[in-house]
Amino acid sequence: MRTQSNTKIVFEVKEIFQSIQGEGLMLGIPMNFIRFARCNLKCKWCDTDFSDGKFLTPNEILSRLNKKLKWVSLTGGEPMLQENLIYLIEKLHEEKFSVLLETNGSIFNKKILDDSDFISADIKPPSSGNPVFDDRVVRYCIKNPERSQLKMVIKDGNDLKFFKQIYNKYDGNYENWILQPEWNSISKLCGEGILMEIDENVRIIPQIHKILNLR
Ligand code: SF4
Repeated sequence: MRTQSNTKIVFEVKEIFQSIQGEGLMLGIPMNFIRFARCNLKCKWCDTDFSDGKFLTPNEILSRLNKKLKWVSLTGGEPMLQENLIYLIEKLHEEKFSVLLETNGSIFNKKILDDSDFISADIKPPSSGNPVFDDRVVRYCIKNPERSQLKMVIKDGNDLKFFKQIYNKYDGNYENWILQPEWNSISKLCGEGILMEIDENVRIIPQIHKILNLR
């Protein structure tokens, strides 16, 4: 949270828009997206421009949402960097929205995880340049399979190896592991049969924004 006065709570927002969810188990669901500015990681292939985030109050955020859509995705950047995110989640719930938290999995805040209706933790692989995650986020998701997924974009065999190490270390009975082949590498990964090495608790779901030309 940054305050412009003692009474004004604001969040640093890059953009608010409506689209369909392009990744993971909620694929295809139309929803509101609040993309927050700032991230604690610096992925090599990050294409998000954080340069012109605007400070918006909760009411300014709410006024830009489509109330006909049930879901609001909190995405980024890394939404968990926004102080008082819990306050915004409460406001969204008061307006009858359901909250999807899209996090890079490197920050653990139990209260935010508890208050979110669905958690999508996108663990970064070696090809990102910063394969870091908080063990507690993974364990939290595994304990709450009805409202979580653990996702990883993979680009090559080294990423797949990293994924398998995590998968084998944690609970193999968790069914919401998602592998998302990086768009430009998908033919290579499939051609090499690399994705066939995965067992049935892992779902392979490509990002559909590229196919539908949506953001
Ligand atoms: S975690 Fe996401 S937003 Fe942050 S640097 Fe990596 S790709 Fe970009």
